[in-house]
Amino acid sequence: LLQLYVPLNFLGVLYREVKQSLADLDKMFNLLEREREVADAPGARDLQVRGATVRFENVVFGYHPQRRILHGVSFEIPAGKTVAVVGASGSGKSTLARLLYRFYDVDADLSGLGGGRITIDGQDVRDVTQASLRRAIGIVPQDTVLFNDSVGYNIGYGQPGASQAQIEGAARAAHIHDFIAAQPQGYGTMVGERGLKLSGGEKQRVAIARTLLKNPPILIFDEATSALDSANERAIQTELASAAQGKTALVIAHRLSTVVDAHAIVVLDAGQVIEIGTHAELLALDGRYARMWHLQRSSQEASPDPEGQPVAS
Ligand code: ADP
Ligand code: MG
Repeated sequence: LLQLYVPLNFLGVLYREVKQSLADLDKMFNLLEREREVADAPGARDLQVRGATVRFENVVFGYHPQRRILHGVSFEIPAGKTVAVVGASGSGKSTLARLLYRFYDVDADLSGLGGGRITIDGQDVRDVTQASLRRAIGIVPQDTVLFNDSVGYNIGYGQPGASQAQIEGAARAAHIHDFIAAQPQGYGTMVGERGLKLSGGEKQRVAIARTLLKNPPILIFDEATSALDSANERAIQTELASAAQGKTALVIAHRLSTVVDAHAIVVLDAGQVIEIGTHAELLALDGRYARMWHLQRSSQEASPDPEGQPVAS
């Protein structure tokens, strides 16, 4: 019995190992696939930013071919304006942000809809060099991943040659300077997996500082302050609003109170635009946005805890 048991157990281990390496291979292929998808087109030119008008034209996308996430999304962010995107969790808001930054490519030639595209000043993001595209865009993602490097590096990244004073200025604006200065190693403090563990809110503020320092013509804020407590959130919202002045900004909203002044608000539902207009227009429409607005307002009034404000994610 023992003789029988040992090989079986061995087979079990072997099986798990094979399975694991298959999983790793799968992961690797996925990575390769993604790399291939977002490679520079042959002869790609640098993006020429004039006013930075951003257009989503009939954008269709799925992370996997079997499951489409965006079903023909169209809207424009005029040069220098802020457009907000709101909608339930899973409706595809972050996906829009990732496509504009070109982490993924829009799906081409799908039957009936025609190939969708995203353009900046008329140039398809797939036709320009990634380096020039990413120089033009600053993104504060929903979940910030930091480099295993110093906090100073993490802020300065994206603006090579930034001075220490500029890095500190950005950190102050993002309300993270005092925290950094209080560390024994200051801006040299290592962060990431093998360094200082930062909270979600601290990471978010590092990403905000990085973007403020980079000062690009196009900004993407994807629930950029969702991990902050409400006092910090209000303060930083003011900084973000002033950073977005005169820039083209895609703001994915977490609290609707932050989108009231947007040039337009796009309401996304299951990968489709169901409403679009200014705050006043959408309230008058008395549709989904109006319902979301009244719901947030009433639960805010009902909540005595300032930290417990309701959110739309
Ligand atoms: P939102 O930001 O509005 O909450 P997302 O754009 O993050 O929505 O996600 C839209 C849909 O795409 C969701 O159903 C989500 O599960 C799916 N999704 C998001 N990221 C990935 C991914 N990397 N791979 C596969 N599916 C994803
Ligand atoms: Mg999201």
